[in-house]
Amino acid sequence: MSNIFLFILGTAIGSFLNVLIDRLPREESINGRSHCEYCKKTLSPLDLVPVLSFLFLKGKCRYCGKKLSLQYPGIEILTGVLFILIYNLKFEIFNSNFKFLISNYAIVSCLIVIFFIDLKNQIIPDEMQIALFITVLLSKIVVGVTVTALGYALVAGLIVLLPILFLYLITRGRGMGFGDVKLAFNMGFFLGIKGGFVAIYLGFILGAIFGIVLLLMKKKKMKSKIAFGPFLVAGMVIVLFFEKPIFSLIQRIYGI
Ligand SMILES: [Zn+2]
Repeated sequence: MSNIFLFILGTAIGSFLNVLIDRLPREESINGRSHCEYCKKTLSPLDLVPVLSFLFLKGKCRYCGKKLSLQYPGIEILTGVLFILIYNLKFEIFNSNFKFLISNYAIVSCLIVIFFIDLKNQIIPDEMQIALFITVLLSKIVVGVTVTALGYALVAGLIVLLPILFLYLITRGRGMGFGDVKLAFNMGFFLGIKGGFVAIYLGFILGAIFGIVLLLMKKKKMKSKIAFGPFLVAGMVIVLFFEKPIFSLIQRIYGI
């Protein structure tokens, strides 16, 4: 399959993900036509071609001339790039199983939406947690998961959520939100116990690095709230792509 086709597919899906990212936190219908958020003018199909419209309009609304957010082309390009990477980096495990490729695209699409909604609104909508759970479940079904393995995956979800639940309880929801607890369940369900814990561990490392950078730049005070979900999602994506080298490194160091 050509990378250009996958990229175009990704930008088209990314354009839909932008709609979800904008509308889910506001509980707006996702069916309505897209409109400019400043002048409210309904956008024509020509204004909605992924990436290209943004370039042609030089990042400004055709009607009122207000600057459009870089979020739109940014997420379209990100989705396109991730679609190419998933296909090329994980091709051997797909065994040309088209359904498995599609279900992995669906999982990553859910993760992109969760990442940006949590980043912007410090909330993870339950619709997205359910969508993520269902896409992970489907990805297991298309490769012929056994009932026992499915049971293990559910138990893995419950085990992986424990440390996040613990942090949620001792910080009384200030350090972690309950959305992070539900997300941790999905992490274990998706990646298993080992993969889930590695993803959480990576999330903490990324969060710490980001926090230090912000402190050094004096951008945010210690008290100000940074959502933790995006770091968990980043940890998941890293494990998704680099499961093999990470697991063999753990095997070499800890023998597990
Ligand atoms: Zn406008």
